[in-house]
Amino acid sequence: MRLPQEIFAQTELADILGDEVWPGSEVGTRVGSNTLDDAICKQARTIFHPAGTCRMGDSPSALIDEKLRFNGIDGLKVTDCSIMPALFSCNTNVSTLISAGRAAISSFRNKQASA
Ligand SMILES: Cc1cc2nc3c(=O)[nH]c(=O)nc-3n(C[C@H](O)[C@H](O)[C@H](O)COP(=O)(O)OP(=O)(O)OC[C@H]3O[C@@H](n4cnc5c(N)ncnc54)[C@H](O)[C@@H]3O)c2cc1C
Repeated sequence: MRLPQEIFAQTELADILGDEVWPGSEVGTRVGSNTLDDAICKQARTIFHPAGTCRMGDSPSALIDEKLRFNGIDGLKVTDCSIMPALFSCNTNVSTLISAGRAAISSFRNKQASA
């Protein structure tokens, strides 16, 4: 937020750009100012990409291991958007599909190996 504001404040752009639409020039933008942070907190919300509710890893909140095995229930694996250790910066659908595909192939190979 602060970087584009700095860029847009350059005199070379002043003739091209109109007033800032949001959060507006009345909101303090200097680093350390809480007003911009407050404006962002009021505006920010979750949307469309909830993830990590059954997260992988070794943190206390992790429910599955790196092989997708659910902690405490033998034979149960989870592979969907919930396993993501943290939300990353791309969209979640293809990542979910890839992890599910890899899990399916791995289970298939394990079954073949034990047959
Ligand atoms: C409006 C919208 C737009 C999106 N756009 C994009 C996009 O453009 N690009 C992108 O990468 N991602 C996008 N996403 C995110 C993406 O859809 C999800 O990250 C992805 O579908 C997650 O897959 P999933 O298998 O974890 O969950 P889901 O796809 O939600 O699958 C969960 C399934 O479980 C079923 N279910 C739930 N409860 C039960 C139950 N008790 N018993 C039986 N079945 C149950 C549900 O019916 C559903 O079929 C979007 C999401 C939304 C909501």
